[in-house]
Amino acid sequence: MDIPNYAKAVMQTLENAGYEAYIVGGCVRDTLMGKLPHDYDIASSALPEEAKRALSGFKVIETGIKHGTITVISNGQQIEVTTYRIDGDYSDGRHPESVSFTQKLENDLARRDFTINGMAYGREGIIDIFGGREDLKRGIIRCIGEPEKRFSEDALRIMRAIRFSAVLGFEIEESTARSASECRSLLKKISAERILAELKQLIRGKDTERVLLQFPEIFAEILPELACEIGFEQYSRYHDSTLYEHTARAVGAVRSALEKTGGEHSEEAETALGLAMLLHDCGKVRRQSRSADGEGHYYGHAAVGAEMTDAALRRLKCSNTERERICKIIKYHDIPIELSGKFLRRQLAKHGDLFRDIVAAHIADDMAKREFCRERIPTYLKALEKIKEIEDEKPCLTLKELAVNGSDLTDMIPPSPELGRILRKLLMEVIDGKLENEKGALKARAAELTARC
Ligand code: ATP
Ligand code: MG
Repeated sequence: MDIPNYAKAVMQTLENAGYEAYIVGGCVRDTLMGKLPHDYDIASSALPEEAKRALSGFKVIETGIKHGTITVISNGQQIEVTTYRIDGDYSDGRHPESVSFTQKLENDLARRDFTINGMAYGREGIIDIFGGREDLKRGIIRCIGEPEKRFSEDALRIMRAIRFSAVLGFEIEESTARSASECRSLLKKISAERILAELKQLIRGKDTERVLLQFPEIFAEILPELACEIGFEQYSRYHDSTLYEHTARAVGAVRSALEKTGGEHSEEAETALGLAMLLHDCGKVRRQSRSADGEGHYYGHAAVGAEMTDAALRRLKCSNTERERICKIIKYHDIPIELSGKFLRRQLAKHGDLFRDIVAAHIADDMAKREFCRERIPTYLKALEKIKEIEDEKPCLTLKELAVNGSDLTDMIPPSPELGRILRKLLMEVIDGKLENEKGALKARAAELTARC
């Protein structure tokens, strides 16, 4: 296995001092999968003080010495060294009451969550007591030990199981999957921040749609807003699935929707759109009505959904910027998209860059409906092309960009709320292409408007 020299140096130093040292956990898993791990963890038989002494040639930070962890800086890179540990009883479903140190690597590996995360690599090569290598090869997430006990000890493992399943595209072994679902109510004990952190990784997975469809009850546990979508018949000519299935498909369509919109898209854009699609229709059930012909209608569901999502994301301690972005996408996810310059300039003025997210949401949404709904996608793409052209013209879209400001007009209108109203009116007319953004024209129009008041 290929291990970077800075990690080898730390292992070697511990071994030279007479201790055992192994690379463990996620970095072994990632390396075996041919991926570059984002960090390396070392487990060692050395007690924390012993490890500190043995590694005195390195800069050492006492990050979590009570739990046996120190951070070592080796050749400019951070690496965590943790003493072999046994976790004590978990009474709160989150943290072990105590941890004790052990001299046996097997014990340390046994406390880890899944077989693919329970391997070590050292002098003898790979140590694989629980069949992690085989599960990795076959693409299986399986608890180490009794699944129900492991999920009851720490319910965050439920989120980790479905996150790995979505991100790696792995199936969850049957009894692990059953217990994850059965233990889901324990997720209440897990902090909102940690749930959200897992959800944000999960939502960008390659198999998120499958995981959403496989574990609706787990998602309804962390997002009760989704509960009413499960099994909900839409009675709509646009849909051929239940509301929850449509939601799962829309999330699954996010990457492809962003790719269609072209250009670079960031991880944040993908996460925000993923979470937006997950919650985009949560207001539908509250806003349902049926016309005489039996067709289901959902007037106003986008605004209701945006409000429900705002509450959900506050509960999950999502950052304000991200929450606002997601809620706006939801609020406008079903506005009719027109191709006129006037409409597009208005959207740009109102939403700025966010308009691209709104269009991408339309695409993901339509990809999750009946086939014929995709006919609208070329129009959306055309709208984005036109938006680019409009941006290249550097149009005036804000009061700041208007060729007059308040003081240019004070000889006509004294500073007052009326002045503000006139300036906004001028801006709207400029955006709509009715008025040129030129001082003389704007002043003349302002005079007209004041005369009329
Ligand atoms: P990634 O870093 O890619 O999110 P990871 O598996 O490396 O995944 P970390 O949080 O870095 O996750 O944890 C490192 C290792 O610690 C894991 O591989 C696993 O062996 C163990 N571990 C982490 N969280 C838990 C947990 N909740 N229960 C049991 N073991 C855990
Ligand atoms: Mg890791």
